[in-house]
Amino acid sequence: MERDPAPVVDRVFNFSAGPAVMPVEVLEEARDDLLCLPGVGSSILEISHRSPAFDRILGDTLGILSDLLGGSADHEILLLQGGASLQFSMVPMNLLRAESTADYILTGTWGTTAARDARREGRVHVAWDGASTKHDRLPAADEISLSDDPAYVHITSNETIQGVQWKREPHVGTAPLVCDASSDFLSRPIDLARYGLIYACAQKNAGIAGVTVVIIRKDLLERAGDGLPRMLDYRTFAKEGSRPNTPPTFAIYILGLVCRWIRDVKGGLAGMARHNAAKAQLLYDVLDGSAGFYAGHARPECRSDMNVTFRLPDETLEREFLAGATARGLVDLKGHRSVGGIRASVYNAMPVEGVEMLRDWMLEFQRGRQA
Ligand SMILES: *Cc1c(COP(=O)(O)O)cnc(C)c1O
Repeated sequence: MERDPAPVVDRVFNFSAGPAVMPVEVLEEARDDLLCLPGVGSSILEISHRSPAFDRILGDTLGILSDLLGGSADHEILLLQGGASLQFSMVPMNLLRAESTADYILTGTWGTTAARDARREGRVHVAWDGASTKHDRLPAADEISLSDDPAYVHITSNETIQGVQWKREPHVGTAPLVCDASSDFLSRPIDLARYGLIYACAQKNAGIAGVTVVIIRKDLLERAGDGLPRMLDYRTFAKEGSRPNTPPTFAIYILGLVCRWIRDVKGGLAGMARHNAAKAQLLYDVLDGSAGFYAGHARPECRSDMNVTFRLPDETLEREFLAGATARGLVDLKGHRSVGGIRASVYNAMPVEGVEMLRDWMLEFQRGRQA
């Protein structure tokens, strides 16, 4: 995948929260091979999900993914559909028994939604909720109140809308830790041994919409009772190698290309994390040096390397800022409607050049308003 960058003059810098910017190298490879996969004679879009060619693609994708994550004999990687949102229900369906309680730590909109959906499946205990300060921070260790012997403890590693990210996992005793990692999956190394289950849709950081990665500790596979619909039971996907039916073949192919790009071009997850931290820091330095002109939503110790959220002094200035950004080819910076302000999503594939241009625009805009 080391290829010369083709001219991409019409491409803007896309700060969308998801589906989000993709590595140009991955788009180029997919484009070059779209009519005909090398040695196959057909497009990835046309081949059977049981064909040897797709066997290879699925095997490669799972292999590289497992290598990136450090490999774990205790965990199984499953590829599902239905987005992260289906996992809000599948996790409790599979892991929450009738007589037990699941604990949720709510650090933003997505975790709150996950808990809401879990309540339809069983008993939920909110172990902490940051709503009173608009989810601008993480809990301190002594603020988390777990129930007795929870079936699992659910966190959202990166709250995409608020821009709040866990820097390390909370201590949850012996309970399995379940994590929605949708918006920071493959952005940094992860210690799988600490997790019972991790899920992530691909379209933020790891590819395109259509495939959701679930990494589950093998002993938890047996937790589900009988009677779940077959396609909502993790065991079905484990037994059938993620192919109980037609999987999202193109999305899996792209996930494989992105994993290879992270491994071969970005230096694996450790290299990826360094790039990401450096990019986000460029913007946080502007916030911190702006004497309050740019006011970050997340508290400094909790802020995300993926979604940088901030406000300007008023909404008129925000509109002017966004219009000027768009004119410079810096697009999709409007914050989520529930939080307002600006959100710069600087996922894996956002080039540092895009972040530097945004930084320069922020500095120029503030100078212009305060001259
Ligand atoms: C985007 C996102 C979701 C929702 O993902 P879908 O694939 O649209 O269901 C859930 N959780 C987090 C943290 C997200 O960023």
